[in-house]
Amino acid sequence: MILGVNMGKLPSIKKFGTKLTIYSIVVALIPILILGIVSINTITKTMDEQAQEKINSDLSTAEGFMEDQNDKLSTVCKYASNSKDTINALKNDNISKLKEIALLTKKSGNADFTTIFNSKGQVVVRSNSNISNDTELLPLVKKALNGKSISSIELLNEDIIKKENLENKTRIEIIESKNYKSSGNLITNNSVKNKSVEKALALVSINPIKDENGHIIGALIVSKVLNKDNYLVDKIKRDTKDTATIFLDGLRISTNVKEDNKRAIGTFVSEEVYNKVIKKGETYYGKAFVVNNWYITAYTPIKNSDGKIIGMLYVGMPEKPFIALQNSIKNSIFGVGILGLLIALMVSFVINDKITKPLKELKKGARTIGKGNYNFRVNVNTNDEFGELAKAFNKMADEIRKSNEKLKKQAEELEKSYNELKELDKLKSDIVAIVSHELRTPLTSIKGYVELVLDGTMGAITESQKKCLEIANKNIDRLKRLIDNMLDLSKIEHGELEMHMEEINLKELVENVVDTLKPLADEKNINIIYKINDIIMKGDKDRITQVLTNLIENAIKFSPVNGKVEIQALKEGNSVHIKIIDNGPGIPKKDLDRIFDRFYQVDSPEKRIKGGSGLGLAVCKSIIETHGGTIWVESKLGSGSVFHIIIPIN
Ligand code: ADP
Repeated sequence: MILGVNMGKLPSIKKFGTKLTIYSIVVALIPILILGIVSINTITKTMDEQAQEKINSDLSTAEGFMEDQNDKLSTVCKYASNSKDTINALKNDNISKLKEIALLTKKSGNADFTTIFNSKGQVVVRSNSNISNDTELLPLVKKALNGKSISSIELLNEDIIKKENLENKTRIEIIESKNYKSSGNLITNNSVKNKSVEKALALVSINPIKDENGHIIGALIVSKVLNKDNYLVDKIKRDTKDTATIFLDGLRISTNVKEDNKRAIGTFVSEEVYNKVIKKGETYYGKAFVVNNWYITAYTPIKNSDGKIIGMLYVGMPEKPFIALQNSIKNSIFGVGILGLLIALMVSFVINDKITKPLKELKKGARTIGKGNYNFRVNVNTNDEFGELAKAFNKMADEIRKSNEKLKKQAEELEKSYNELKELDKLKSDIVAIVSHELRTPLTSIKGYVELVLDGTMGAITESQKKCLEIANKNIDRLKRLIDNMLDLSKIEHGELEMHMEEINLKELVENVVDTLKPLADEKNINIIYKINDIIMKGDKDRITQVLTNLIENAIKFSPVNGKVEIQALKEGNSVHIKIIDNGPGIPKKDLDRIFDRFYQVDSPEKRIKGGSGLGLAVCKSIIETHGGTIWVESKLGSGSVFHIIIPIN
């Protein structure tokens, strides 16, 4: 026999493993995420700052280039105005010589026009035309005639442009006017309507012409138009790699920012930049939408010699490649994060396996031992808590095996004793049956002969002979009852007690029993009272008679002389409740249940006097239970007993 232990459903190790993996991923993910976010933020911010810084410094470089070019122009201008030829020609009013000088100066300065003024500020000679005797650029010329050398960027109006024959060189076609916001100063609504601007920005250098005595006798201007001139912006681009633009007011007049593969000349700056730079005169740093893309930019105002804002200088680089670079860095960081996560995952799998392996082994052990295989031992040899647990587990298995073996041995012994007892019990039953059977026949014969002699059939007998025979007859009855009870019990034990069910009139049945027992009651002057309703019930008439006889006989037997025995039978639902009440000595509480056991007798003086076998109630109980009923007693020592029987009517 193997005693198994029901272990129920053991918790799944897989679930624990999954949890462990999730925890380790979370643990790995948190620093990776924090590190990733922080580094991406820092890198993006630093890159943005550096890009803007570069643009800011490139703007200074661009401004420097402009100044350089102006310086070159200024050198040529100074040289021409200080030359003796110029002084003499002006003094002598030698127009052809002056024209020659103007053309030469224009050429050597790579300029667009040169103009020579007299001491009154009137034009003496123009390099590009023969118009003279008029005045222009008055404030500048006035300053020069006052002895000042000026080098600046100036706005050329339509009049000068015409006189200097520069219309074609300077004319800007407005190709996109959507950003134009009329400020009412440099570029008029009319220009926008005509889609053409006839103004120009130009580098201008002016120098006074002095005679040998230092008297100012005139002035000389050399100027280079910036409209549509790509030299400066392309030089800036070559040196800084940034795009560059020169604006007249908010209009692009020279640029290498392209739209549809063409320089975006004739387009306007965004309103935001215009407001900050042209209107407020501040420098704009930051992202701006330039022509058709986002750029990282810097715009600075261009002022003329009077400090009036006439345009802007822009440098900037497209944001796209810069963003692409930032994205590729972000992707790399992301990739590194994923790689880190994968490594964490792999490491967690390995650790997971290391941790769950002994747990799996323990689970297997618990299951195997649960099935009754107590020789199984778990194999975990780690030098940690799991190892300790495994040792304790194996020890426990050992103990279970030992106690199981002990239990097995005890169970076997018990089984053996039980079988022996069963054997003995059967032997006893068989002996009782055989003996009872063998005693019954001669006893019946003895009783017959005793009664024959007693009733005088065999001849007259003396009074003392009669008394002797009556005693013998009583004892024969007792013996017969004992044998009957023993035979009944034997039948009950072997399941051979047969019931012949029929309809019983309970009142009649009780009356018959009382009639039979009347002589016994009369001997002790016991009054038998019965209150029985008319009850028809189903049962084995002889057996119910046997039960009632036994109970009423006991009641008479245990009642004192002149006592009283009461019999009641009442219908209760579908059952009948019978009570046999006496006023005998009663039964001690501890014996109440046991008196229905075989051979059990209450140890009392009455028992010793009245004798008995202790079998009657056991037989009664079996008969009542076979009828589907119950029997019990209520009693108190010294106050009589009440025997109850409840039997189903059907
Ligand atoms: P017995 O043949 O000894 O009467 P029973 O099985 O009929 O066997 O009764 C068992 C024991 O129960 C009796 O020996 C007696 O001690 C007790 N007993 C039975 N009926 C009564 C009663 N009415 N009053 C007191 N004791 C009783």
